[in-house]
Amino acid sequence: DPIPLHTPDRQPEDPDAALRPKSLDEFVGQAAAKGNLAVFIEAAKSRGEAMDHTLFFGPPGLGKTTLAQIIAKELGVGFRATSGPVIAKAGDLAALLTNLEPHDVLFIDEIHRLNPVVEEVLYPAMEDRALDIIIGEGPSARSVRIDLPPFTLIGATTRQGLLTTPLRDRFGIPVRLNFYTEEELEKVVTRGAGLMALEINSAGALEIARRSRGTPRVAGRLLRRVRDFAEVAGSGTVDARIADEALTRLEVDRLGLDAMDRRYLTMIADIYKGGPVGVETLAAGLAEPRDTVEEVVEPFLIQLGLVARTARGRCLNDRAWEHLEKTPPKPESG
Ligand code: ADP
Repeated sequence: DPIPLHTPDRQPEDPDAALRPKSLDEFVGQAAAKGNLAVFIEAAKSRGEAMDHTLFFGPPGLGKTTLAQIIAKELGVGFRATSGPVIAKAGDLAALLTNLEPHDVLFIDEIHRLNPVVEEVLYPAMEDRALDIIIGEGPSARSVRIDLPPFTLIGATTRQGLLTTPLRDRFGIPVRLNFYTEEELEKVVTRGAGLMALEINSAGALEIARRSRGTPRVAGRLLRRVRDFAEVAGSGTVDARIADEALTRLEVDRLGLDAMDRRYLTMIADIYKGGPVGVETLAAGLAEPRDTVEEVVEPFLIQLGLVARTARGRCLNDRAWEHLEKTPPKPESG
C-alpha cells in the first residue's frame, strides 16, 4: 500500500529519526530562524536561565520537532515531547510539568489541539511558573498553587492563527518556518544519502530535491524509495535518470505533486470549472479532513502559484491548467 507522501501523522517507528540533524550547524536552511535561535540559546546559557517559550509554525515536515530537539541539546538541558491531543486532562499536563528538571525543554506538537481546560492550566505555568490545582470537591474545594521549575515550552503548529490569542501571546519567541529551496533540499538529500551510505550524484540529488514539495521530510521519504528502486535495478549510483524513473513510478510528478495534490486540482478543474469553491466542499469531495486539506495539501500548491485562496473560495490559476494539460472553460457571457 503506498503511504501518502505527506500525511501529517508520523509513522509509529519514525523513519525520519535517522536523518534528523543533531546541531544547528547540521540543520540545513531556515537561515533567519537559525540565526535568531543561536542568539537566544547563547543568551539563555550565559545568563544561566531557561530560554524563553518558543512557538514554531509552518507546514508539517519542515523541521519543527528537529529544531526543538536541537535547542535542548545546544542548551544542554533535558527534552520531553508530547502533543496537544495526547494531553487529555489538566492532571496529565500537571504531571508532565512537575516532573521537569530546571531549564528543561517541554515540546508540545500540535499545540493548537490542546483541550481548552488544559490550555487554561498552561497559562500560569508559562507566565508565573505555577500550577493552580483544585483539591477536593464542592464547598470544601480549594485552590493550591504549586511552583514549577523554570522551563522552556516549545510549541509547534501549522499556522500561528490556529492558536488562541492568550496562548499565542505567551510565547516570547515566535518562529516561522518556510518551504525549502531546491538548493537547500539538495543538501538535505545529499546529506541523507551519506547517512544511508547510498551513492548519489548531484543531478540525482537535485531531481529528488525538486520533487520534494519544499519539505525535508518528503525529501527523506523519496530518497528511501529511490534507494529501493536503485537497489532492485542493481545500479551503483543514483543519477537523474534513476531518480526520475523511480519518482514517476511513485506518481510524484515533475512539480513534486503526488496523487492527492492532483486529485485536488482535478476536482476543482473538472467539477467546479476552476472555482471558486469552498474548502469544506473540496474536503468532502476528497474524503479528507478539512485540516489536512488546509494545512498540508494547500500551502504548497499556493506556494507554487497553482491555486489561490480567495474570499469566495479556492480558484485554479493558469499554471494549474497548464500543469493538468486542460483548457480552462470560457467565462460565461452575460
Ligand atoms: P515537523 O516537526 O515540522 O513536522 P520534523 O522536525 O519532524 O518536522 O522534520 C521531519 C524530518 O525532516 C526530520 O526527521 C529530518 O530528517 C528532516 N529535516 C527537517 N528539517 C531538516 C533540515 N533543516 N535539514 C535536514 N533535515 C531536516
